Amino acid sequence: MTLAAVLVLAASVGSVEASHPTVPRTAVIVATSRGEAAVAVTSERGHPAVAIDPLVRLLPLKSALEPGWAVLTFAGQSFRFLLDAPAFLDGTRVVPLWGGAYVARDTLFVPLQWLTEYVPRRFREGYRYDPLAGRFEESGLAPVIRRPSPPVTRHPETGLVQRRTVTVDAGHGGTDPGNPCVFCPPGVTEKHVTLGIAKQLRLELERRGVSVTMTRTSDTLISLYDRAPLCTADCDLFVSIHVDALARRRGYDQVSGIHTYFLGEALTDDARRVAAMENDALRYESDRPVTGDDPALFILKHLQANEILRESALLAELVQFRAAKAHPGQDRGIQQNRFVVLATARRPAVLVETGFGTNRGDAQFISSPAGQRALAVAMADGIVEYLRRYEAKTLGMDSR
Ligand SMILES: [Zn+2]
Repeated sequence: MTLAAVLVLAASVGSVEASHPTVPRTAVIVATSRGEAAVAVTSERGHPAVAIDPLVRLLPLKSALEPGWAVLTFAGQSFRFLLDAPAFLDGTRVVPLWGGAYVARDTLFVPLQWLTEYVPRRFREGYRYDPLAGRFEESGLAPVIRRPSPPVTRHPETGLVQRRTVTVDAGHGGTDPGNPCVFCPPGVTEKHVTLGIAKQLRLELERRGVSVTMTRTSDTLISLYDRAPLCTADCDLFVSIHVDALARRRGYDQVSGIHTYFLGEALTDDARRVAAMENDALRYESDRPVTGDDPALFILKHLQANEILRESALLAELVQFRAAKAHPGQDRGIQQNRFVVLATARRPAVLVETGFGTNRGDAQFISSPAGQRALAVAMADGIVEYLRRYEAKTLGMDSR
């Protein structure tokens, strides 16, 4: 595909009206001349989606999986979904969605928005959707009696509606000690501090009803490439924990504070310094191949990455805001940076540099149980705040 063709494709990007359901649905009724069924709606990926199998039984719909893609054929028209990208192709037209098609537990799930908003417009004569009744039906069927939606239950403390899962990554480990944390107690390096904070964070999140997956719970080395991929199907976000350090030079031990990163270009010398330090863990690992880019995927990948970046920026902001308040050092704010550990993330992901091992005050704080706990409490509050906003947006509910 030429650049011109890509630009034409970009210019033809259409849109589905941004109408979210006002209440989270647990099912939609699909009614056709072949029969009627309540099809379960899941929001496990943050947007409403339905399994393909019950739809195939009731609709003129076929599905096929190709590597990285799902191809749906509805009434003879084919729609191509790049898996996990919040968009699909109708011919050469890219149509954005709130979330993408995905495969979980060997089943293809398609965004409810495609079925209830796009199909009724694309096949106006044949199908319609009644959002109040939650009923997708073939035109010409008899009208039905509406049933009220079931009540919503929230977690009493956090207000979250769904059980959420977070992957917590303690930086470094095993043969990779991280930075020496020069002002930490003897024998303590970055890898010990990150594990201490990560374990506290797990406790605090679990206390708030959030499930936690740890990339490591002991002193072992995990590849930078294998960490974020642990946050997949049932995971909402990824948090990596690190300790910053400066090279010995005049006044180096005066620099203190906490900063939070999400993926992007490094815009400052300081960001480049931190990326070089954290990516250096790669030298403990064997080489990995880099795959090339297909220009036809460019737009869809871009949409996919953009959505994750927007979410990562918000997550970084909320975590930094809370954690900086609990921290004795400076509030160093949020920044983008080229961290390998974040580059493989397919969910919102941040990396927190929790303090400087080369500053006495910071080192004492982040290596003490009380400091680790204070940071974990603040970070957990920031994460829950993010999840609440995420639910408010994706489930169409107020965030309290
Ligand atoms: Zn580190």
